[in-house]
Amino acid sequence: MLGLRRLFGTNGIRGVVNKELTPEMAIKIGNTMGTFFQHGNLIVGYDARTSSPMLARAVIAGLNATGCNVLFAGMAPTPALQYAVKNHETNGAVIITASHNPPEYNGIKVVWSDGIEFSREQEIEIENIFFDEKVRYAEWNNIGATHDLPGVIDDYIEAIKKHVDNAEIAKKHYHVVVDAANSVGSLAAPRLLRELGCKVTTINANIDGTFPRRTPEPRPENLEDLALTVKAVDADLGVAYDGDADRSIFVDEQGEIHWGDKTFALLEKHFLKDNPSEKIVTPVSSSTLVKDIADTYGGEIVWTKVGSITVSQTMKKLNAKLGGEENGGIFYGLHQSVRDGAMATALILDIMAKTGEKLSKLLGELPKYFIEKGKIECPNELKEKVLEKLTEQLSRLNISTIDGVKIWFEDKSAILIRPSGTEPIYRLYAEAKTEEKALKLVREYSLKLKKIIDSLKS
Ligand code: MG
Repeated sequence: MLGLRRLFGTNGIRGVVNKELTPEMAIKIGNTMGTFFQHGNLIVGYDARTSSPMLARAVIAGLNATGCNVLFAGMAPTPALQYAVKNHETNGAVIITASHNPPEYNGIKVVWSDGIEFSREQEIEIENIFFDEKVRYAEWNNIGATHDLPGVIDDYIEAIKKHVDNAEIAKKHYHVVVDAANSVGSLAAPRLLRELGCKVTTINANIDGTFPRRTPEPRPENLEDLALTVKAVDADLGVAYDGDADRSIFVDEQGEIHWGDKTFALLEKHFLKDNPSEKIVTPVSSSTLVKDIADTYGGEIVWTKVGSITVSQTMKKLNAKLGGEENGGIFYGLHQSVRDGAMATALILDIMAKTGEKLSKLLGELPKYFIEKGKIECPNELKEKVLEKLTEQLSRLNISTIDGVKIWFEDKSAILIRPSGTEPIYRLYAEAKTEEKALKLVREYSLKLKKIIDSLKS
């Protein structure tokens, strides 16, 4: 799927259905996971994609063949399935989802008994079983059983409600618009919000694996319907989820769409007010805004590589309670250390209710940054050398090389220069207190990069 001896990408196993990811492949992956878990009990569930039930049945057959027992949870948001693993104390879960990818894709995500996805070391173990044909089938009298596991979504909703002030939220009679991407986001969040006393209007809430209205990636450019609906019905809040409902992007009462690191910074601010000196985990791609808030409210930022699995693993290692990503991933460790769209929604409402302020005001009070992006072509084989040279040239600046190179400047501007994992390009993300400065940074560092690339080509 991803080339020689590689099953897992940055987001688990992904591929185009019936081309890269066939039912045969799913059975074999089931066999492999079953062998890895050594006949444990695993939860299986899936997202709203047209291919998900087919692939789930294939994975279940593969797991049962190795003696693994399956608790079949059916269609559910990914974070609800992750929560179920902890709640039912199973050995792990196999989740059929391709998250925000286009409809022709699907994927297989495997989580450990704590609900967190595998580390790279565990992935390699699984890849070795898969590619070296080390699958162990059970004897005919030890084949695993499959039982239905009802109530996963009910338990998940109850768990989220424990972390917010239900009475205070209910008092405010909020009106919330939910854009569920025609996927599993419609199964938990609208119910959760109604149980919290909100009036709920839904759009794109019928399950349809062709994703007819918008792509399952909640980017500001495809959330216009949500923004317009919030305005039209005079709602207090709008929220859009990705295809498996672990990411959430918010719209304020004025119809303005906010990117994830802003809402993360708001959650961080209120979390640190109650829990000063806690660690906040976030990828190096997040805005300096997140650091500003930590500095002001006494928290400690732990920067990580880009990728939700790294954030979860780092939170677990450091026992950190809050993590976040600019793409709308919020990790609330007191609930679970994985991205959770419905949990994030409840937390935002909790802050609105406790402060009595509108979301536009709460977000407007945060420090402001202007963001500019750029890209430069670079042959894949040169990427590593380019990074080495660039790091060398920048060594006297305040830099981090956790993932690409990030430079922080005295005037609070910053730039991240990072090779793309999928395309022959370098990406640049600059932020600054003025638009001009952000643009200038992108231009300046694009030139620097280009010079290095050209010198290595000749
Ligand atoms: Mg997702």
